[in-house]
Amino acid sequence: MRIAKDLADAVGRTPLIRLRQASEATGCHIYGKAEFMNPGQSVKDRAALYIIRDAVKRGQLEPGGTIVEGTAGNTGIGLALVGASLGFKTVIVIPETQSQEKKDMLRLSGAELVEVPAAPYKNPNNYVRYSGRLAEELAKTEPHGAIWANQFDNVANRQAHIETTGPEIWEQTSGKVDGFICAAGSGGTVAGVAAALQPKGVKVGLADPEGAGLLKLFTGQDNPGDSITEGIGQGRITANLEGFTPDFACRVEDREALPIVFDLLQHEGLVMGGSTGVNVAGAMAMAREMGPGHTIVTILCDFGNRYQSKLFNPDFLTAKGLPVPPWMDRAPASIP
Ligand code: PMP
Repeated sequence: MRIAKDLADAVGRTPLIRLRQASEATGCHIYGKAEFMNPGQSVKDRAALYIIRDAVKRGQLEPGGTIVEGTAGNTGIGLALVGASLGFKTVIVIPETQSQEKKDMLRLSGAELVEVPAAPYKNPNNYVRYSGRLAEELAKTEPHGAIWANQFDNVANRQAHIETTGPEIWEQTSGKVDGFICAAGSGGTVAGVAAALQPKGVKVGLADPEGAGLLKLFTGQDNPGDSITEGIGQGRITANLEGFTPDFACRVEDREALPIVFDLLQHEGLVMGGSTGVNVAGAMAMAREMGPGHTIVTILCDFGNRYQSKLFNPDFLTAKGLPVPPWMDRAPASIP
């Protein structure tokens, strides 16, 4: 066992966990890359580390400098934790409509929050656009530099997966991996792993949640609906997705993905967010397409405690017209 020299050095090298139910249902070996075991409990720690390192290498940031990003989720937590570990400040621009849980988690991670009114992307005060301008302004005055992380179009994000996630999967399976599949937010994970593993003959698939636009862009197939999953569901070819062509693509409905999340929790000890359900459903669809005996890897994106008021809240599920698993409605055990 090695000693990490700091928290940033503890990012990555996550285990591959056999997913029992998915494997048994398909006759394939389905493994989940346990990205929730990163220090910030998500796959985005890898992108955060590479974005920060790249800015330092380019001379845009030196210790004491500031990282700015417009995000409501895992990228902000990753940037704040990895940033603090390497000596940087983090400013996160977030729509004020985001849940208190998320704001609290970002503050707890050490980020300074700038709350802005929710506005569509075409509005210059949209949180992502605002964060870009704020970074530009800070860069003029911050003596140690300021950068805009820009996870969607900063290809340092994809590079993290080309250099770490992909090679780790190859090594952990001793090269005996037939397929990899996951959903896309920025697309860094799927396109980065594809760049690392497609040249070795591994088929790479894309799982698209309801309502996301990539399925149509890649296959022409319509993808109606709306998903409660967070962090995924891209509608454009981001810079991170440029040059990526999936070998397989499928649509995953919440009605299919959420029971998988609940089964992982109840029967395999895996407390995951909604995007993991989409990924595992995608891995099962790919397994059925490839046939029994194949080895397929997907991503266990983040830890489920982030979604207590939504995915794990029976009232929220009912309001969305989604089925509530019986155990969730159960009254807490009491001593007679
Ligand atoms: N799942 C969750 C929970 C995420 O936060 C993200 C990142 N937004 C993803 C999946 C997708 O990862 P990527 O940005 O690499 O496509």
